[in-house]
Amino acid sequence: MNLCDIRTIKDIMSLYGLSFRKEFGQNFLTNKAVVEDIADACSDTQGTTVLEIGPGIGVLTQELGLRYDKVLAVEIDRGLIPVLRYTLQDCPEGVVEVINQDIMKTDLHALLDPYLEKGPVSVCANLPYYITTPILMRLLESGVPFSYITIMIQAEVADRLCAKAGSKDYGAITAVLNYYGEAEKLFRVSAGNFMPAPKVDSAVVRIRLYGDKPVKPLDEQVFFDTIRYAFEQRRKTLSNALSAGFPDVPKDVLTSLIEGCGHRPDIRGERLDTAQFAALSDAIVTWRQNH
Ligand code: SAM
Repeated sequence: MNLCDIRTIKDIMSLYGLSFRKEFGQNFLTNKAVVEDIADACSDTQGTTVLEIGPGIGVLTQELGLRYDKVLAVEIDRGLIPVLRYTLQDCPEGVVEVINQDIMKTDLHALLDPYLEKGPVSVCANLPYYITTPILMRLLESGVPFSYITIMIQAEVADRLCAKAGSKDYGAITAVLNYYGEAEKLFRVSAGNFMPAPKVDSAVVRIRLYGDKPVKPLDEQVFFDTIRYAFEQRRKTLSNALSAGFPDVPKDVLTSLIEGCGHRPDIRGERLDTAQFAALSDAIVTWRQNH
């Protein structure tokens, strides 16, 4: 069954009395080469367990099922579950498991911990656009030691995830992501490769998660707060932005801590990379401990 074929997609949807649900970000892939490339990129080991978020009618799930030992496909739309039972019937026995859940509520440890003993666990998804960042943050913050997270997302968001410090696309999400791993943009996919076609192009990003994080802030919460405050007031200098966020630390102290980390006193937050944010947050933590 060619699930990239537009006629087939339409027939399946009408057979099951379904329409594309915009509120679930349903834009199904219609280009087999793109689907195969995403499935190939997702891991370099067959013995991988893949968490797929939003299988839709199963186009990517089929390809993942041919390549990897286990595929756990979490789909929110109850109407698609019987469709998936039909479209995935030829997958190798026992490989694909479909779970009807909202990924934002799934207990990721309960689902994935049993597979971590068997081999690497990775994520692969053509993500629903309305909820890309919350899903990504949930995966990163879960503490599940994913090897890779390979996701199709809006091209503009992909540029943000892969931006260099100081560039126009660099933001809080980039600095936070770089704490957990390294993001690489693999390829761009134009809007015409989906049904229905979204308004903007997409891109596939692969994140390699660090086993041992190279940056180790003294206090994770202060580190994340430092990044958040720095970007909440992007036009302000870093010392102004941080003094709004950390009212207990006098502004002249913040300025001297910034200088103590080797920056100009009027630097803006967007110029700092993840390690520099960690060093600055450590300076704030140490100052607080002594005052
Ligand atoms: N993987 C399919 C493909 O590439 O053609 C469908 C991708 S479509 C962009 C996003 C899918 O995610 C839809 O099937 C949608 O129903 C599902 N979805 C949306 N929100 C979800 C959530 N919170 N949890 C799980 N699945 C979700």
